[in-house]
Amino acid sequence: MTTGKINVSVENIFPLIKKFLYSDHEIFLRELVSNATDATLKLKHLTSIGEAKVEYGNPIIEVKIDKEGKKLHIIDQGLGMTADEVEKYINQVAFSGAEEFLEKYKDSAKDSGIIGHFGLGFYSAFMVAEKVEIITKSYKDEPAAHWTCDGSPEFTLVPSDKTERGTEIILHIAEDSLEFLEDFKIRELLTKYNKFMPVPIKFGTRKEKKAFGVGEDEKMEEIEVDNIINNPTPAWTKQPSELNDDDYKNFYRELYPMQFEEPLFNIHLNVDYPFNLTGILYFPKMSADLQIQKDKIQLYQNQVFVTDNVEGIVPEFLTMLKGVIDSPDIPLNVSRSYLQADGAVKKISNYITRKVADKLKSLFTENREDFEQKWNDIKIVLEYGMLSEPKFYEKAGAFTLYPTVNKKYFTLDELTETIKDQQTDKDGKLVILYASDNDAQHSYVEAAEAKGYEVLLLDSPIVSHLIQKLEADNENLMFVRVDSDHIDNLIKKEDNQISKLSDDEKETLKTTLEGIVPTTTYTVQLEAMDSKAAPFLITQPEFMRRMKEMSKTGGGGMFGMGNFPEMYNLVVNTNSDLATSILNEKDKNAQESLVKQALDLAKLSQGLLKGEDLTAFVKRSFELIK
Ligand code: ADP
Ligand code: MG
Repeated sequence: MTTGKINVSVENIFPLIKKFLYSDHEIFLRELVSNATDATLKLKHLTSIGEAKVEYGNPIIEVKIDKEGKKLHIIDQGLGMTADEVEKYINQVAFSGAEEFLEKYKDSAKDSGIIGHFGLGFYSAFMVAEKVEIITKSYKDEPAAHWTCDGSPEFTLVPSDKTERGTEIILHIAEDSLEFLEDFKIRELLTKYNKFMPVPIKFGTRKEKKAFGVGEDEKMEEIEVDNIINNPTPAWTKQPSELNDDDYKNFYRELYPMQFEEPLFNIHLNVDYPFNLTGILYFPKMSADLQIQKDKIQLYQNQVFVTDNVEGIVPEFLTMLKGVIDSPDIPLNVSRSYLQADGAVKKISNYITRKVADKLKSLFTENREDFEQKWNDIKIVLEYGMLSEPKFYEKAGAFTLYPTVNKKYFTLDELTETIKDQQTDKDGKLVILYASDNDAQHSYVEAAEAKGYEVLLLDSPIVSHLIQKLEADNENLMFVRVDSDHIDNLIKKEDNQISKLSDDEKETLKTTLEGIVPTTTYTVQLEAMDSKAAPFLITQPEFMRRMKEMSKTGGGGMFGMGNFPEMYNLVVNTNSDLATSILNEKDKNAQESLVKQALDLAKLSQGLLKGEDLTAFVKRSFELIK
């Protein structure tokens, strides 16, 4: 047996870094601008604690393209490096100067906003460059240094005559990466990753009109000014008390320049214990079809854009929101599945859920009318949240609204209070009536309202799941759709209609009807209703309909998709003239066509008459009026 050490030489690591360290080559710019930002913030910190005795001034970072020379320059006015520091921080791959800095200034620098920590960012430059130069002058009184490396492990380090403090990184862009010499490409990257970084970033210049002179002599002249790409103090870094409604709306536009709808409201997140997190979330106006969202929540770390895939960090129901989250405490160099299991991340997700629920509650109490107006646009998110997050469900009862077809809005408690005397079944259960489509179920809604019942309008696609959940949690509650068979069984009938027909006549009518309508689909029921009510009515067993709906919107596929038998009730009003006519018709053929025509009419009003049947019905109807 032999044992030994596997030899990993730097020669082997370099191409690895180049190829695999980051799958996205474009992030090299984010890393280099982050380092420039760190260098600037470090200097700021050192001057503030009196350790660096230099003028901090108003440092900026400049990104410059030299197309002919095939070079990209990133220039900062930060703390710079001495030759020794270059040796230490740059030549030792995976040694993070950022981490060392934070360690050294542990107490004072924890809020300084330093970005780096893996000590690998700098080397991402070699993903796009065949040669990299660093020309750097430390704030300390030492000569400047010039480091050059062509991607092999050999480097040169010589003195340089640079006199201003700071660092210039020069990338000699490789042949396969020439796109990074294009103006629009660099602008795109800066806008994507660095739009809200804390140090101003200059990219080129722009023309600006400026007035010179006074009074009659005033002249407008065009001057060239630095083109600053970023907003170093985005709204989320400020205190909520410093911001008004317009500030929030303006920031929304800054985030999503192509978005013209205004957000409904915002939620400012701001916590520093037990984890650090800031951000602003917006409730957008939601379209009913939940169209694929382009503008998503953006995740930042210390104002550096990281990703717009916040899956696992934000509870799923809130991924429909927009806005930003900034947290240095989210581990990002791990897989998503690990992320979901991570305790710290779970805490963050719970915090966001709680915060959103609290905000909704206060919006509801502070301005109920406004909240009601927005209800339609936010209900999907909330219903989804109630179904998927137990913590949210607990809190949501306080502000979840149940609108009626007449646009009255109740909370569940208010609704219970309002209908408890009217709408209970024989077991004392509260019966909540609802329509899912006010037009299609109009005749049923009208009938229920005529009896003095409140009818809710619950029309969102996942509401049947929510209903199921509410019923499971409140045994005294029962939701019944207006066109369902339960409606007459469950609700106390105050109007005891007397039947015009004798028991024998009823028996005959029932047998007759059952001889004509297909009994595999329809269960015939006789009801004594007002003579002016519809003679034939089709209702659907509530249970069947719900099962069908839930299998459509993912209820677990208990029965396998679409294997539900079509089952309806045919409710015949024994007090209607039609019932009498059918009963008294001696001609069997005439009787049959009477029943069929009436059944088709009932189906038509339920939207159940389709295809061939509909065509036949129309034909038959024309025959009748000839
Ligand atoms: P990290 O940023 O994670 O520490 P990097 O590989 O990005 O790792 O950078 C390594 C180190 O090199 C930094 O920590 C810093 O000390 C030094 N460095 C890189 N760029 C600059 C710069 N523009 N100015 C000063 N120091 C820099
Ligand atoms: Mg870095």
